[in-house]
Amino acid sequence: MMQLYNSATRKKEEFKTHTPGHVEMYTCGPTVYHFAHIGNLRSYIMEDVLEKTLRYTGYDVNRVMNITDVGHLTSDADEGEDKMLKGAKRENKSVMDIAKFYTDAFFSDCEKLNIKVPDVVQPATGLIDDFIHMVEGLIEKEFAYFAGGNVYFDTSKLNRYYVFNDHNEEDLAVGVREGVEEDTNKRNKNDFVLWFTKSKFEDQALKWDSPWGVGYPGWHIECSGISLKYNGEYLDLHCGGIDNAFPHHTNEIAQTESFVGHEWCKQWFHVHHLNTNSGKMSKSKGEFLTVSLLEEKGYDPLVYRMFCLQSHYRKGLVFSWENLDNAVGTFNKLIGRIANLKPGDDVDQAVFDELKAKFVAALENDLNTAQAMTAVYDVLKAKTTDATKLAVLADYDYVLSLDLLAKAEAKRQENAKAAAAKKSEGGYTIVGEGDPAIDALVMQRYEAKKAKNFAEADRIRDELKAQGIEITDVAGGAQWKKI
Ligand code: AMP
Ligand code: ZN
Repeated sequence: MMQLYNSATRKKEEFKTHTPGHVEMYTCGPTVYHFAHIGNLRSYIMEDVLEKTLRYTGYDVNRVMNITDVGHLTSDADEGEDKMLKGAKRENKSVMDIAKFYTDAFFSDCEKLNIKVPDVVQPATGLIDDFIHMVEGLIEKEFAYFAGGNVYFDTSKLNRYYVFNDHNEEDLAVGVREGVEEDTNKRNKNDFVLWFTKSKFEDQALKWDSPWGVGYPGWHIECSGISLKYNGEYLDLHCGGIDNAFPHHTNEIAQTESFVGHEWCKQWFHVHHLNTNSGKMSKSKGEFLTVSLLEEKGYDPLVYRMFCLQSHYRKGLVFSWENLDNAVGTFNKLIGRIANLKPGDDVDQAVFDELKAKFVAALENDLNTAQAMTAVYDVLKAKTTDATKLAVLADYDYVLSLDLLAKAEAKRQENAKAAAAKKSEGGYTIVGEGDPAIDALVMQRYEAKKAKNFAEADRIRDELKAQGIEITDVAGGAQWKKI
């Protein structure tokens, strides 16, 4: 049974769903005004592991994600400039061009990190009528009011304005950052905007007609609207990074439960931040690392995935190049060990089941991915056939998604090539590219030199050169390569 920490109750609990065996899962998607940084992607990696764990342990999952392409202001507390407009201005492009470009970039990063695309991906701009309908419903039920051109949610109408408290001071400060003024239209400090028609800037690019005038939806309403449409009225699991807990998720709960009239989502999964030595990695600070940058520096994106898996999602993770280099070493060693296993078909089912149970136990222990990685080493150490080990690792990799077997196979081929490329005879070692005909010529040249027949040695060198082969004499032998 899956034990998962629930931010709403602040306890590890047995994971339960509204419909047995089926999970309705929602994930807050990216704000597509810039590249996702590897901090954002830590959240998406851990959510991917969670989704795959649920599927791996037998659940049928419907996972929904929004793409925030409107309404997310520079302050999470509805103040400042629309982030999309900020991105468009920065690049001198239209908001829709920016949205398309960074949505594609996001999914390309996901692919490199083996993050599965959710079953439903919905850009907010594609569902405006649903948001308007929801805002109308909230006004009708007197949970919302119109003031100064905007529609606000009235938090004083709630019995309880739920605030997750497992986030730190820095996260709470999000709403008061950026030196923005308090919105005087609000009746209560925590009220938030459902629909904007009037904002602190005039040139909002995307606008839609509504009963309250031409405008655009608030950020929070989009997740509620999208989840209600594709997950239905009962959501089992809601995910996001820890900075989403407040005010975003708090506001999602307030408006959704007021709209549907019953409890909405029971389990909340929050991934803690990837930090650098100077604090939380964030897009607005402008100094952030991307998957492309990792690649440019020669890192395999899956090393970053493993780096994330090595630590628990409920702890902050410190990124440094040194830490990543350590992960490279660990990853290469691991792949090397798997490459040494001999494929075969003598799989021991009893051992397979036992090892699988260990892995499941780690994941069902509040998604303890570090422990799950330890299980990988236990497989390598197990007293069983190589075929069993390979079968277990292939099975684990459904969740880990580190391409363990494909990378090991590539490594095996590389090793075989290196072995074939090396030939020793009478204390003379030839390192080449595994071509026996060339090796034979190089050996003849050596014999000629030994017999002081230098003309013949030079003739062979020229013959090789004509074939595009370059030889270098090294201590104890020669190396050759095609040029
Ligand atoms: P955004 O694109 O800003 O809407 O954020 C996308 C996701 O990344 C959200 O779930 C955030 O909570 C999450 N997130 C933002 N910064 C970090 C970070 N430094 N580490 C982990 N997750 C983050
Ligand atoms: Zn959201």
